[in-house]
Amino acid sequence: MNLKHLYTGMLITAALATSCGTQQETTDFEYNDERFADLQMLRYKVEGFEDLSLRQKTLVYYLSQAALSGRDILWDQNGRYNLRIRQLLESVYTDYQGDRESEDFKNFVIYLKRVWFSNGIHHHYGCEKFQPAFSEAFLRTAIKDVAPEKLPFDIEELFPVIFDPTVMPKRTNQADGEDLVLTSAANYYGPGVTQAEAEDFYLKMKEADPDPEHPIMFGMNSRLVKENGVLTEKVWRSGGLYGAAIDRIIFWLEKAKTVAENDKQVAVIDKLIEYYRTGDLKTFDAYSILWVEDTDGDVDFTNGFTESYGDPLGMKASWEGYANFKDKAATERTEKLSASAQWFEDHSPVDARFKKQNCKGITAKVIVAAILGGDLYPSTAIGINLPNSNWVRAEHGSKSVTIGNLTDAYNKAARGNGFQEEFVIDQATRDLIREYGDVCDDLHTDLHECLGHGSGKLLPGVDADSLKAYGSAIEEARADLFGLYYIADPKLVELGLTPNDEAYKSQYYTYMMNGLMTQLVRIEPGNTIEEAHMRNRALIAHWVLDHAEGAVELIKRDGKTYVQINDYAALRTLFGELLAEIQRVKSEGDFEGARRLIEAYGVKVDPELHKEVLARYKALDLAPYKGFINPEYVVTEDKDGHITDVQIRYGEAYDHQMLRYSQEYKTLPLIND
Ligand code: ZN
Repeated sequence: MNLKHLYTGMLITAALATSCGTQQETTDFEYNDERFADLQMLRYKVEGFEDLSLRQKTLVYYLSQAALSGRDILWDQNGRYNLRIRQLLESVYTDYQGDRESEDFKNFVIYLKRVWFSNGIHHHYGCEKFQPAFSEAFLRTAIKDVAPEKLPFDIEELFPVIFDPTVMPKRTNQADGEDLVLTSAANYYGPGVTQAEAEDFYLKMKEADPDPEHPIMFGMNSRLVKENGVLTEKVWRSGGLYGAAIDRIIFWLEKAKTVAENDKQVAVIDKLIEYYRTGDLKTFDAYSILWVEDTDGDVDFTNGFTESYGDPLGMKASWEGYANFKDKAATERTEKLSASAQWFEDHSPVDARFKKQNCKGITAKVIVAAILGGDLYPSTAIGINLPNSNWVRAEHGSKSVTIGNLTDAYNKAARGNGFQEEFVIDQATRDLIREYGDVCDDLHTDLHECLGHGSGKLLPGVDADSLKAYGSAIEEARADLFGLYYIADPKLVELGLTPNDEAYKSQYYTYMMNGLMTQLVRIEPGNTIEEAHMRNRALIAHWVLDHAEGAVELIKRDGKTYVQINDYAALRTLFGELLAEIQRVKSEGDFEGARRLIEAYGVKVDPELHKEVLARYKALDLAPYKGFINPEYVVTEDKDGHITDVQIRYGEAYDHQMLRYSQEYKTLPLIND
C-alpha cells in the first residue's frame, strides 16, 4: 500500500519561517525541471549516498538495475498496446524529418511526454485516455520517416487506440454499476472476461483454499484470460508471461546477493528469486515474511508485483521496484511511534473487538530513495507500507517507510509558489501552516504508514476482499483517520514529535482544505472522483463537514470559497467517530456500508465549486502533478570486472532518460498476448 503524494503546493517549507532562518540551501541543486501539460518534472537528491561503504553502494547499484528492469511489465499491464505505441512514438520522435517547430510536432512531443509519464496512454492518476492534440494525418505522414523494421507490427491497429475517444477510454474504471473488468483498458484480464466471471473465478478459488487462515493473495501475479471459453491464469514468472523481463530482474538480484549486507538479506533475495522463478504465491508469502523480518541492514528494496490500485477489482498487482537506504537521524522519529504502537492501538476510538491485542513487528523508518522504477516512476509515493497480505501483517508485522528525500524535494520545489496565499483563509492560518506544516505532514505520513495501516483487525472469517472496489479507498481512509486522530494527541507532544498542542491544527486545516477543495484541481470538469486516495480524502472531509454542526464550514469572501475551522477540538472528535465507523466497516467486511459512505461522500464533485477552484488554480499557473527524473549511477570497474567505485550523476534530461530506459531496459517483446 502506498501513500501517493498529493502535491497541491500546500507544503511550504518551515525553513521559510523565522525560527529556521539559517537553514538556507547552500547548493545550487535545481529541484524543478521541465514542465508540460499538467505535469512538473522534479529531481531528487540521494542525500548520504557518499557515506555508504563501497559494498553498500554496489548493492544499491545492482538493486537499482533490478528496479529499472521491470519497466516494460508495467507498460504492458497498463494496456495491451502500450509497448507498441511507445515504440511507434519514440521512433517518430527520433526520426521525424519534417518541421520540428510545427504545432503538430510540438503537440506530438507533449503527448509522448505524457505517455512516458503515465507508462501508457491513460492518465496516471485520473485513468482517462489522453486525447492527442495532433492529427491522425500528421502521424501517418511522420511515420513515413521511420524505417519499417523499427515497427514490426500492425500499425493500423494502433490508430483507433490512440485517436478514437471511445476505444479504451479508461485504464481503470470504478463507476458504480458498470462491468468494471470489461470497461477497463488495463491488461489484467484478457479480452471478453467479465467482472462476474472474474469474481466468480476467484471466489471459487478462495472457497477451495485448504488453509483459509493463511490465504495467498489470489490472482495477484497473473492475467486472467479466456481460452476456448475456459478461464485460466497466465502467471507472471520466469518462463511464463513477462518471463523475459523477470529473468533480467533475476540476473541483477543474483548480483545483489553477492554484496548483500548480511545473511538475512541473502535469504530474502534468494526467496524472491525462487518466487520469480515459480510464480508460486505461497513462496511469495514466505518471501514477504523474510523481508519483513529483515531489518538489520541499511540498504533495502521493493521489487515485484505490489500495488493493486490499477485493477478495478483490487486483486492484481502492478509491478514496481525501488532501492533505498536508511536515513538514520530521521528514523529516530518513526521508531518512537512504532515503539508505542500498542499504546496507540489501545487508546484508539475504535470498538475493542476490532483492535489488535498484540501489535508486533511494525517497523518504521525514514529512507532515502536511490532509484524509482515501475509504478513508482516518475509519479511516486512518499510513504509505503508492505506487505499487503493481511495475515502476514497480523502474524509477522509490516515494514513502513517514509521517503524523506522525496518529501524534501517536493517542499523545496514548492517554495513561494503562491498557493497558500490563494487558498488559505487568513494570515494567521498561513503562519500556522508555515510554522508547522512540514513537521505535521511528515508526521501524518508516519502515522498513516507505520500505525494506521498496521492497526486493527478483521473479525474471524471475514474475507479480506469483501469490500471489493471500495476496499482501497476504505483502507486509505482508515490509515488517514488514524493519523488525523492521533496527530492532535498530547502523546505526540510528550514523545517530542510535535512541538506543542497547536501544531496539529496546520494538518487539520490543510487536510480539510485539500479534501473539500484543492484536490479538485486534479479532476477534469464534469468528472467524478475515482482514485482511491482522493476518494478517501473527499470522504473524510465531506463526512466531517456534514457532521460538523458549525465546527468547520465553507464560507464565501469576495466571491471565493474558503475553509473556515471554528473548533479544532470538535474536528478531532469527528475524525475519531469516523475512524471507529470505517474500522467497523473494514473489520466486518460490510460492503454495503463501504459503498454507502464512499458514494455519499467520496465520489461526487460540486460543479460550481469545482469550476471556481480550477479557475483560481489556473491563475497560479502551477502543475497539479509532479514526478521525478532519476539520477544515474555510474560504475567504475577494474580489469577483472569488480566494481571499484559507484558515483551518482544528476542532470539527465527527461526525454534522454526515457529513451535510454527504452533501450537499456527493453526487456519484453512488443506484444505479450
Ligand atoms: Zn496508505
